[in-house]
Amino acid sequence: MLLSDKRQRLLSIVAGVILASGIFMLLLPLAFELSSGYAFAKEPEAETGTVFTRVSRDLLAPVVYIDDDELFDDEYILVSDGVPGTIVRTYEYTGENTAILIGEDTIIEPISKIVCAGTRRRLSTGTYVHPAKGIVTSKFGYRGVAVGSSNHKGWDISNVKGTPVVASDGGIVIISGAYEDYSGYGKVVVIEHDNGDWTLYAHNSELLVEEGAVVAQGDEIAKMGSSGTASGVHVHFEYRPAGGGAVNPDILFNAEDFTKE
Ligand SMILES: [Zn+2]
Repeated sequence: MLLSDKRQRLLSIVAGVILASGIFMLLLPLAFELSSGYAFAKEPEAETGTVFTRVSRDLLAPVVYIDDDELFDDEYILVSDGVPGTIVRTYEYTGENTAILIGEDTIIEPISKIVCAGTRRRLSTGTYVHPAKGIVTSKFGYRGVAVGSSNHKGWDISNVKGTPVVASDGGIVIISGAYEDYSGYGKVVVIEHDNGDWTLYAHNSELLVEEGAVVAQGDEIAKMGSSGTASGVHVHFEYRPAGGGAVNPDILFNAEDFTKE
């Protein structure tokens, strides 16, 4: 029994050592982590309450916009670039990898960027639509049968009286009534477009817009007629590029594309 007891005890010790070794082996990596701090402190931690500063050259002043009525409202011109200022920020470490901002001190004031911003509303598309439904019955240039002028300065688009005459492009109505230099136009509308080009619509029976009105492309501006010097019902349409005389509207449309309906 004694022997048996001894063996029993010895076996217990051996088993205990093996078990202890196993547990030790299992815990070894954890022990390494604990001793190295590898898994528990990825960043070296400052002591809570530590105050530190950072210098940043990122202090921006608000952009200053100067209104410019020569520019369109989607146009900008850079006058001068801004210069960032320098700021010193003071932080206090509050533990757990966080710090709170406790002070800011501007060392160099920033300089604003200055931009000219357009305020002029865009009224024109830069493209032109037919000023009226109808058939082009007289084109630009010299013509045999003189009606009003032997040098025809536009196109005549003929249809029935009262046919809508529309703004070929948007702009400002600069004339609605009689044309100062030439009464032969009868009741006439002239529109000035954004780029300074004019379009002119003559011989109307009725005018629907007043001088100074803003019209969009396609807006009805008049009713077709035969006022002034006109042989029949039509709109006499002229296209006058900025600052110049009338040019052939064939740079805007094909005469063959016009239809009465
Ligand atoms: Zn004409």
